Amino acid sequence: MKKFSLLLALTLSMLSVDTMQAADGGPAISSTSLAKATTSPAPETMLVRVRQLAAKPEVVLQLALPYWRSQPLNQADTIALGLALMKAANATDQSQDVIAIAARLRPLPMQPLDRRLMLGLLAAYIDRLHDPGRIRLMEDDVRQLAPRLPDHQPYIADLRAQLAGSYAILNLFSDSIRLAREAIATGSQHPGVADYRAWQVISIAEMRQGKIPEAIEALHSAEKASIAMKMPDDALLLSSFSALYLYAGQWQQSIDYTRRALAASHIAGRKMQINRADTFNNLGSAYSQLGDFKQAQTYFRAAIKLAKQQGQSYAYPLNNLGELLRQHAQPAEALPIFREALGIFRQQRDVLAQAVAWANIGASLAALGQREAGAKAFDQSQLLFAKIHDSEERLKMYPDMIANLRALHRYREAVQVMQVMQAYKEASDQRNSEQSRIRIAKLESVIDLEHQQRKLVEAEQEHLKQRNTIERFKTRNQQQRQWIGGMVASLLALLLFAVLAYRQSRLRQRLNQQLEQSNVELAEQRQSLAELNAKITHQSEHDALTGLCNRRYGQAWLERKMLALANDFQQGTPSPPLLLMLLDIDHFKSINDQHGHEAGDRALTHFSAVLRQCSRPDDVLVRWGGEEFLWIFPQLNPLEVDAIFQRLRTSLHSQPLQLSGEPQIIKVSAGYGLAPAWPTADTDWAPWLNIADAALYRAKAGGRDRITGLLPSGQVHMDAATLARTSIAEMLQDGWLREQDMLRNSDDTAADSTVQ
Ligand code: GH3
Ligand code: MG
Ligand code: MG
Repeated sequence: MKKFSLLLALTLSMLSVDTMQAADGGPAISSTSLAKATTSPAPETMLVRVRQLAAKPEVVLQLALPYWRSQPLNQADTIALGLALMKAANATDQSQDVIAIAARLRPLPMQPLDRRLMLGLLAAYIDRLHDPGRIRLMEDDVRQLAPRLPDHQPYIADLRAQLAGSYAILNLFSDSIRLAREAIATGSQHPGVADYRAWQVISIAEMRQGKIPEAIEALHSAEKASIAMKMPDDALLLSSFSALYLYAGQWQQSIDYTRRALAASHIAGRKMQINRADTFNNLGSAYSQLGDFKQAQTYFRAAIKLAKQQGQSYAYPLNNLGELLRQHAQPAEALPIFREALGIFRQQRDVLAQAVAWANIGASLAALGQREAGAKAFDQSQLLFAKIHDSEERLKMYPDMIANLRALHRYREAVQVMQVMQAYKEASDQRNSEQSRIRIAKLESVIDLEHQQRKLVEAEQEHLKQRNTIERFKTRNQQQRQWIGGMVASLLALLLFAVLAYRQSRLRQRLNQQLEQSNVELAEQRQSLAELNAKITHQSEHDALTGLCNRRYGQAWLERKMLALANDFQQGTPSPPLLLMLLDIDHFKSINDQHGHEAGDRALTHFSAVLRQCSRPDDVLVRWGGEEFLWIFPQLNPLEVDAIFQRLRTSLHSQPLQLSGEPQIIKVSAGYGLAPAWPTADTDWAPWLNIADAALYRAKAGGRDRITGLLPSGQVHMDAATLARTSIAEMLQDGWLREQDMLRNSDDTAADSTVQ
């Protein structure tokens, strides 16, 4: 940007350098004669008036141009008046008039000096037609004129130098350089003004082609010419040097020439002065390049201030200041400056400058981290660059733009931009000279296109890989989350299950415990019930006082046994009969009477105990009632019964009962019989007990303390019917039964007496 601004300034200043020399001074004419010239005068009169008014060229044009156009004039008058009008138009910078008058004069046969004058005036304006053909025509005119004016070779050379400048303005650089060299080769007086001008033109043309060393060399030749001609320091020339060195990257040289240019510009009385604002701008640029931030800022700000004061555009130094700030990590300060510059460039309709400003705005935004906005600014810049053909500025923008896209991970676009850049660079290479290629190659080494492109592609791949990884990670994460969710759910279910199972097991355990407990209790209950039952049974079957079987049990027992015996009999396998012994305590009543009922109870208990002692396990002992007992012997040989009774008697004797402190021997009488006495199918036991009872009666009657038995005699059988109608007495009488009273105790009498 800096360079561009300089280039523009340089071009304009150089090409306007000698317009002042083209105006020849004429004789002074008083303005009072002006009024007389208003009516249609004769051509010679008009010519006189025009020459008199030469100091007031605008009045000349007003007065004579319509006249020259409308009046029928001869060739000589047309030429004379035409040349005078051209001078006036040149003095008032009326390029249209100059060109129009020259066009009418050109075909006319003119004196060489007149033609020299005409061409000289036209030369300053011919480029404004933007028509290379018109310049070529002029070149031919100058070529034809040259041999006719052998004494005016410097003037011819200068015309050629001027036309060479016109070619340069129209970008016809090879024509420009060719004609400038022709100018230098023209004539014999060297160095001259034409050399000075021609070298400057060559310098411009070389520079415009990017050939900076050639341009500098040409400028040095121009300087040499000026020194040879003892010209004072030309601030414009020095300023051009400054610009070229700046362009060439020779910062210190640029600064040196700028300082010289500034010094030269102070020389009073010079018509053409350098633009001080531009010069400050150049200085700022050079210092900026040298890394002198402070100086650079100072000069850029000075340039801006000066340009504002002079009503010039200050957009370029503004832009340069912005770039300086941006490069020194102050993008926030730079951004509003670039925006202001952009506004000015818009007003100026300077598309290239706008493109550069947008690029700078983009870079600042990117530096501020506003990358999306930055990308948009770069897009704007690229759009504007697409409208024009400028290689370097555009190439400078790309790296920042690409870096920004890269930072935004827009790699595809970055690669696309890079490809555009590559294509543009190649086109630019073709367009530009070798020198330019070298410079772009330098730029390239900074940008390192292919490397960058490769890095971008790699970054893109890396980015994609990362994205894939992230996607994969996300998917895996999601899966994991689902999996974990599932796991958590199953864990929860398991936990729930475990809790339930635990609870259930606890419950079951408790239930089991309870059940066990209740089983135990039940068992206990059953046990106690059984015990109770047993007790009840026992109680129901036993006598509470003596503990012997009670009468009910005895009867039941007898019924059962009689049934079995009857059955055996019916089966033809008769079992031995039972022996039933009835016992009755002797004179028991007297115990009750003498010692009380309780003593009677004790006597009963004592007797029962002794009875139990004397019995055998198979025997059944029944308290038949009161003090009467039934001793049942399931299988007893009647021959043994006396011995058993004797043993009972002996026991009772040896164990007397203590009654009121006195020993009391319990005595007992017994009677017995068989059940059945005769084998029978009848189950009734009563008849047989009656027999025993009868025997007991006989024992009592016989004196007590003894035993009597009534047994069937011999082999005689009594059938049931006979038995039913026969009394015991009859049985004894008829000999069915016989009394067994064979054993009689030796102390029978004594015993009787004791109880009595
Ligand atoms: P004998 O020699 O003729 O048999 O005379 P005895 O006094 O024993 O005869 P008896 O049958 O007249 O008397 C029986 C008495 O036994 C009558 C009754 O009061 C008494 N007795 C019956 N059962 C019990 C009992 O359980 N306890 C007591 N203390 N006395 C009883
Ligand atoms: Mg009795
Ligand atoms: Mg009795």
